[in-house]
Amino acid sequence: MPIRELPSHLINQIAAGEVVERPASVVKELIENSLDAGSQEISVEIHQSGKKLIRIRDNGYGIPKDEIPLALRRHATSKIEDIEDLEAIVSLGFRGEALPSIASVAHLILSSGRNSEAWTVSSENGETSSLAPLAHPKGTTVEVRDLFFNMPARRKFLKTDRTEFSHIDKWVRRLALARPDVAFKFSHNGKPILHLSPALDEHAKLTRIADILGDSLASRLISVEHQSNNMMISGWIGLPTYNRNHPDKQFWFINGRSVVDRTLSHAARHAYRDVLFHGRFPVYILYLNIDPASVDTNAHPTKHEVRFRHGKAIHGFVSHVLEEVLADTLPGSKSNDFAPAVDKSGRIFSQSSMRLNYVESSYDEVKDFLSINSALHSEPGEIKEPLGLAKAQIGGIYILAENKDGLIIVDMHAAHERIIYEKLKISFENNQIVRQPLLVPIHINVSDTEAEIAEQKEDVLNRLGLVVNRVGKNSLIIREVPSLLKSIDAEALVIDILSDLSESGSTNKVRELSNQIMASMACHNSIRANRKMTVQEMNALLREMESTKRADQCNHGRPTWTKISLADLDRLFLRGQ
Ligand code: ADP
Ligand code: MG
Repeated sequence: MPIRELPSHLINQIAAGEVVERPASVVKELIENSLDAGSQEISVEIHQSGKKLIRIRDNGYGIPKDEIPLALRRHATSKIEDIEDLEAIVSLGFRGEALPSIASVAHLILSSGRNSEAWTVSSENGETSSLAPLAHPKGTTVEVRDLFFNMPARRKFLKTDRTEFSHIDKWVRRLALARPDVAFKFSHNGKPILHLSPALDEHAKLTRIADILGDSLASRLISVEHQSNNMMISGWIGLPTYNRNHPDKQFWFINGRSVVDRTLSHAARHAYRDVLFHGRFPVYILYLNIDPASVDTNAHPTKHEVRFRHGKAIHGFVSHVLEEVLADTLPGSKSNDFAPAVDKSGRIFSQSSMRLNYVESSYDEVKDFLSINSALHSEPGEIKEPLGLAKAQIGGIYILAENKDGLIIVDMHAAHERIIYEKLKISFENNQIVRQPLLVPIHINVSDTEAEIAEQKEDVLNRLGLVVNRVGKNSLIIREVPSLLKSIDAEALVIDILSDLSESGSTNKVRELSNQIMASMACHNSIRANRKMTVQEMNALLREMESTKRADQCNHGRPTWTKISLADLDRLFLRGQ
């Protein structure tokens, strides 16, 4: 075949291969156009999962009459003018390819009202009709029928109606999260799916999140807001105890654009590393506002991926801010007010009341809490302690306490583990984990490699509060352990640590590993089940939880405490119904 220039219709169809993968891509591009046009209200109507019809109507600026046919031409855009604009994109679109691409693979009608007149054009097989007047309020409607009618191969690649619908549904929800200030209506085959009014304040935004992602998620969020010189992060992150087995409820918006980005998701994962079960994923909805010139949006035709100019700085900023927010999840700190209490079956599922705690071992250190005992007889309404006053211990595991709102139940093992862990981390940072000699030093047998590691890393072990000497080819003596770890199985602990160390290889890795090691130290030390605690000990534990960072979950991400409010109890007993 001779070399020749392709006809523009074919060029558009080729571009459609990238931009229009499936009905959901059409929905995304059209909603983004509506958002770029400053719309306050967007309605999305689809039939047969968008295969038959997609109709998006907005109340944005509209398009001037003489520009309407241009909107359907390739590389025609009102959003950028020169290279400076391209290097600091502030709109969602800018490539001028969506409308012509869609028009090349479907029947498209574009109608727009502006300055009290309205015009419409249609496009069939690359031919744009002449303008015709019509009645249309200010704003734009785009109708897309029979997607891929002229591309049987592409049509065959479409999945079941259900799958295609779920892709559209995800995009509508994602864009509705991106712009809480904009009202959205979404229907499928005439059936309403979403009806979202503009959300301006915190409560309204959480209500929108609840409508989009469900009540139980919305009620388990902690709000984030932090500004540095040139970056601002805001939004919500899930309590560590509310985690999922897929990263499917993680949303990033950079300057209003929904993106998937490895730097950002890694930064978030890093922030949760200390409070989440391995292999579990946190939820979050986060908005990052940065200088548009520092992010390259032109990295991918669908613009869902971006490149940062200063990725490292952004990673540091994000992980630091989120880590701080998570460190403040102390008992009594609030997640948010969005709190469904009892579902229809009467099962308590209030998530906002799921918090965590940690407990400390050294109850004798906190004798001054004995005075709290006198408050035992105070009226519930007067109890000021967030975790309340201890009443009883059950199952050798749970502490029951009463606070001003109702009943608090604490898993004392989980709580204790977190308290110890946080203490160890602080002492380790200050280079002062206090050691205590064992009355009877413990001999242990280990492999050659383990014995060598123990010898080489003696100083590391010392820093962790352990004195371990090699006394033979395969034998070690444990002489001292951290005094925080009273009830520890020293042998099991040392073996665990040696195996951590042998996997990490180099010594600088030890620093990174230290948290993991200390987490296992804390875990080895949990209060033994069925240990009877006095009321004073229990109260001491509660008070210690209240002042411990990340106290809402144990080192493995399990909750340390939960609450059943008096209202929940009333509902359980059908009082007042
Ligand atoms: P891009 O969004 O990259 O500019 P599109 O092909 O999506 O390219 O749209 C082309 C142009 O049509 C836009 O630049 C804009 O001027 C106009 N346009 C498209 N949709 C709308 C809308 N809903 N409201 C107002 N103008 C629109
Ligand atoms: Mg566009």
